[in-house]
Amino acid sequence: MYDVIVVGARPAGAATAMLLARRGLRVLAVDRARFPSDTLSTHQVQPSGTERLRRWGLLDRLLAAGTPATERVRFDLGGTVLQGRFPEGVLYSPRRTVLDAILVDAAREAGAEVREGFHVAGLVWDDRGVAGIRGRDGTELRAPVVVGADGKHSLVAKEVAAPVQRNVAPRTVASYAYWEGVEHWAGGEQRHGELYHRPGRAVAAFPTNDGLTMVYAAAPIDEFGTWRTDVEGHLLATLDQCGDLGERVRAGRRVERLRTTVDLPNVVRRAQGPGWFLAGDAGLVMDPVTAQGIGNALADAELLAETIAGGRTDYQRRRDAARLPIFGLTTGLAALRPARGLNAVLLKAIARREASTEQFLGVFAGTVPVRTFRRSVPRMLVQRARGWAVA
Ligand SMILES: Cc1cc2nc3c(=O)[nH]c(=O)nc-3n(C[C@H](O)[C@H](O)[C@H](O)COP(=O)(O)OP(=O)(O)OC[C@H]3O[C@@H](n4cnc5c(N)ncnc54)[C@H](O)[C@@H]3O)c2cc1C
Repeated sequence: MYDVIVVGARPAGAATAMLLARRGLRVLAVDRARFPSDTLSTHQVQPSGTERLRRWGLLDRLLAAGTPATERVRFDLGGTVLQGRFPEGVLYSPRRTVLDAILVDAAREAGAEVREGFHVAGLVWDDRGVAGIRGRDGTELRAPVVVGADGKHSLVAKEVAAPVQRNVAPRTVASYAYWEGVEHWAGGEQRHGELYHRPGRAVAAFPTNDGLTMVYAAAPIDEFGTWRTDVEGHLLATLDQCGDLGERVRAGRRVERLRTTVDLPNVVRRAQGPGWFLAGDAGLVMDPVTAQGIGNALADAELLAETIAGGRTDYQRRRDAARLPIFGLTTGLAALRPARGLNAVLLKAIARREASTEQFLGVFAGTVPVRTFRRSVPRMLVQRARGWAVA
């Protein structure tokens, strides 16, 4: 008998299992995958997420795997360039083969049992609610609490019929791959993460393990028909719109296949019910344009540990309060439309001041709440207007 069974053992599930086991609970985590295992996902872990890994004693393992730090970001929006460091912390972009295996090992070391290659086919119920899981091979395993950390097509969410709170239709097609030998942006002394927004396009280029650069491009989902006819051609043509990025990538060598997906839903589900919780993408998934998913999964794990082991009852409220503002921002950005009107003025105002740029980057880093940033907007606009008055 276990206290908690966790379905899924990547960022949300393995971290939840680790934290609960560290608090002395008997935990089983199961995953149909075997680790180390890649998954269809890039992997910028925002500074709030890497700070959690540091607190949990796992950041050194990422560094030992040769994961490079990204301390500065250059966000080129066409007319405006925001460039600076995160207000707190550092972004790392570890391959999922590296990150997910570190988390699974840490869960085991904490005392959780982790069963790999275990495919959950359904849930076990009693008159109180969810009471366990049933494997494909018919095995039944029981626990008073089951956590669905089983990703965006969560079986646990389906079985408990978790109500959908928000649903925005998928907006983008995304392609990415890894290149070696990509020079970093020449304007920077230090290696930058590079982000570009162009009308109908979003691009990211971040250093990752083994000296590789991960390059990602997104286009509106209704262009998928033409995009898929020549993914590399469309991706490189997109990079050619981003300063010298296209040139620098072409000068390197692509070392892995291109991966493309339109499976990019934006869905918020109720995350808590009798005998069950949802963590990570199972409970809230959003377009990767703002690279929030892994950090969110780690944050959910912490909230869940405080709830299940710490006797709190407000997981749903705290999850929604922390994630819904950035969900709105992300689905807006995933429309891939250029900033206009007041937003364009605001971005110019932000770009003028280092402190404002850091605040803005802090929203995506997960270290500045969206609400705090919004409160500083009028001041930024006044400063911008004063700048115009003296210009
Ligand atoms: C193209 C793309 C790019 C992305 N880029 C970023 C980025 O740069 N930064 C970022 O933070 N996020 C990014 N994301 C999002 C990120 O991948 C997810 O948010 C993150 O993986 C969520 O972690 P999770 O643990 O909730 O779920 P997952 O990583 O999806 O893990 C779920 C696990 O559950 C297991 N599972 C599912 N069903 C069952 C079952 N029935 N039985 C047993 N096991 C099961 C699966 O095998 C899987 O291992 C990206 C996503 C995509 C698609």
